[in-house]
Amino acid sequence: MRTSAPTIGVLALQGDVREHLHALAGLGVDAIGVRRPAELDRCDGLVIPGGESTTMFKLARTFELFEPLQKRLQDGMPAFGTCAGMIMLADRITGGTADQETLGGLDITVRRNAFGRQVDSFEGDLAFAGLPDPVHAVFIRAPWVEQVGAGVEVLARVEAGEAAGRIVAVRQGPLMATSFHPEVGSDVRIHRLFVDLVLQTQ
Ligand code: GLN
Repeated sequence: MRTSAPTIGVLALQGDVREHLHALAGLGVDAIGVRRPAELDRCDGLVIPGGESTTMFKLARTFELFEPLQKRLQDGMPAFGTCAGMIMLADRITGGTADQETLGGLDITVRRNAFGRQVDSFEGDLAFAGLPDPVHAVFIRAPWVEQVGAGVEVLARVEAGEAAGRIVAVRQGPLMATSFHPEVGSDVRIHRLFVDLVLQTQ
């Protein structure tokens, strides 16, 4: 039985790293920023934050983290991608740049910047599988999930407006992803679900 708190990293190449570290630290885990392979080695789980996925994958290459990240994901490390992080974890993307690569792991097709320019940032309440009350979801130039493989569980969909029914949160084994930003605000229930996933995987 483990006696110490798990170490959960936040990929710290770009994006909203600090907010995730804050949410995780509040849940009693050892939360660390990850910029080097040695830091990744210490992690029992990893959050890939929102930001800009085209920049993030290039920086992952520059910092020689791309292959180590792929290897840890293939070896079953739990990971939670939010927004750009969801794009990074997707096996397939549409609307990416010509040279854009993803780490992959989630058997989903994600459309970048899916909600269109007029409504590129918006908020709404959604039911989220495993949580008794709705979450308040903040979308910022967000992707949506266009297609899911057989092993993927849908955790949340947009509930109102033109995009109603679109999939915005998924889980497949130790991997979770949301189109929106659960690190904005003070509701840490989705981070707690991820911490539980990390604890279960150990
Ligand atoms: N549009 C961004 C991308 O494609 C994601 C936006 C976000 O993470 N808030 O990477």
